[in-house]
Amino acid sequence: MTSSQQHALPHHEWQLTDGQTMPIGTLYCIGRNYADHAAEMKASVPTDPIVFIKPPAAYLPSGSTLVLPQWTSDVHHEIECVIVIGSDLQSCTQDMAWSAVAGVGVGLDLTARDVQQRAKADGHPWAVAKSWFGSAPVSAIIPSSGSPMGPWDLRCTVNGVQRQHGSTAAMERSIPMLITYLASVFTLRRGDAIFTGTPAGVGPIRSGDTVVGSLGNVVHVELHVG
Ligand code: MG
Repeated sequence: MTSSQQHALPHHEWQLTDGQTMPIGTLYCIGRNYADHAAEMKASVPTDPIVFIKPPAAYLPSGSTLVLPQWTSDVHHEIECVIVIGSDLQSCTQDMAWSAVAGVGVGLDLTARDVQQRAKADGHPWAVAKSWFGSAPVSAIIPSSGSPMGPWDLRCTVNGVQRQHGSTAAMERSIPMLITYLASVFTLRRGDAIFTGTPAGVGPIRSGDTVVGSLGNVVHVELHVG
């Protein structure tokens, strides 16, 4: 190993807007949770949730510059509402789900679409297409009071041009439904997060682009493509 490969990687934590921090756990991501995005992918809304996972190293704080991987030539933005879990949860009713939420933010589920399409065609997992280093830029997190929050507008612009605009009210499966489902299958731990799916309008990003996503008018994620 050369010295250039031994540099320490940054240790990131969730940054809440009230100054708290939390360790970053597993990032659970939901596929096709908006009918308009399922349609643009020429796919149906699934009977059961489509779930995939990004590791903590996929996280990037807002404002970061990301150099895209060499092994893909088609990275897409997917703007998503992100739910950060504040307490361990193995089973819960939907009524109780919000009490386990630490806060809410907005993130980009960056996707190597070319690699994902090949994986789909071959019946292979999506991990490389979805879960690479830096594939999950996320905003600061708005603390939850434990009560239901939202809905919010979701927007994504690239170089100031709007690419995606939807509302979290259009989710096929609500935030409490997703929390209850994921807790029952995986167990949710403090610091885990849920990327809740993207509305229509996904598309490519390229070197030199600035991508800005927003959840309502209160929190933003910004990514510079190096
Ligand atoms: Mg997504």
